[in-house]
Amino acid sequence: MSVIPLTNSSVSPLLQVRDLKMHFPVKEGIFMRTGKYNKAVDGVSFDIMPGETLGLVGESGCGKSTLGRCIARLYQPTSGAVVFNGTDISRLGRKPLMPFRRDIQMIFQDPMESLNSRHTVGEILEEPFIVQNIGDKAFRRQRVKELLEVVGLPARSVTRYPFEFSGGQRQRIGIARSIALNPKLIICDEPVSALDVSIQSQILNLLIDLQKEFNLSYLFIAHDLAVVKHISDRIAIMYLGKIVESGDGESIYRTARHPYTQSLISAIPVPDPHHKSQRQVLVGDVPSPINPPSGCAFHTRCPKVMAMCRSAAPVLSTDRQPVSCHLYNT
Ligand code: SF4
Repeated sequence: MSVIPLTNSSVSPLLQVRDLKMHFPVKEGIFMRTGKYNKAVDGVSFDIMPGETLGLVGESGCGKSTLGRCIARLYQPTSGAVVFNGTDISRLGRKPLMPFRRDIQMIFQDPMESLNSRHTVGEILEEPFIVQNIGDKAFRRQRVKELLEVVGLPARSVTRYPFEFSGGQRQRIGIARSIALNPKLIICDEPVSALDVSIQSQILNLLIDLQKEFNLSYLFIAHDLAVVKHISDRIAIMYLGKIVESGDGESIYRTARHPYTQSLISAIPVPDPHHKSQRQVLVGDVPSPINPPSGCAFHTRCPKVMAMCRSAAPVLSTDRQPVSCHLYNT
């Protein structure tokens, strides 16, 4: 089991994920028996330091959102460990998990789906305090006002409903809710993917400002390496339930090693009319995690595939820029 090297190993990690697996049973036949498993997350390990952002990148269906939900304990992982501030929370029951629910929050891709449309913004932002039994009505109202100010929304927003706001404003409400209980870690699950490009940078800058102000750690999930570049200290690339490459942001962009990472980087637009595109177009979709390809799971799409890739699975190397590919493991 290889773990992504840390940028600062003298400080204890806030989050340690070890060999995490989330295998969903697949029911088949008229008796709905479990014959197969959807291996959405299949042995993932990494650390996140206090105040650090780890970008997690991969195409739709690679398991990155499932991984985020396992860490936030919206799912109970099949096996492995999620160690938060020294405690393994992967098997905790509802009650002992409560304090950790304050410390680990999520921001979702579509705030319209994650915000209750029948509640006013004031009610939505008060809810985390009510669930955790924190403060009286006056305290909660004051905190809601402060939260709106921190995310750049007017105080009068409290009486309005989510549908009355633009997409970017709704995401600000989602962010306000995520920081309400002073968390330490926020899992940002594609938080800008549904927004216009001009709004994306505003939301990213807001997240960066909040991180500095409150020393937040982020697991920033995205399918677009260009978005992750702006915000991440380190980056991990995920393919079919596994991390296939990781490293600090600069190294990943300058010296990507895995053919999958290289193809994702080649897809980033370059704002130069004289730049000759060398885009490596990936053929086909991500294979099903129910029947993953033998050997290297990327071999069905890899432009550098070799004979051994079809039968032998590569392992993640243990150097400063770990990669899982026979081009580097042989
Ligand atoms: Fe491509 Fe083979 Fe490397 Fe997999 S192991 S990424 S198929 S070269």
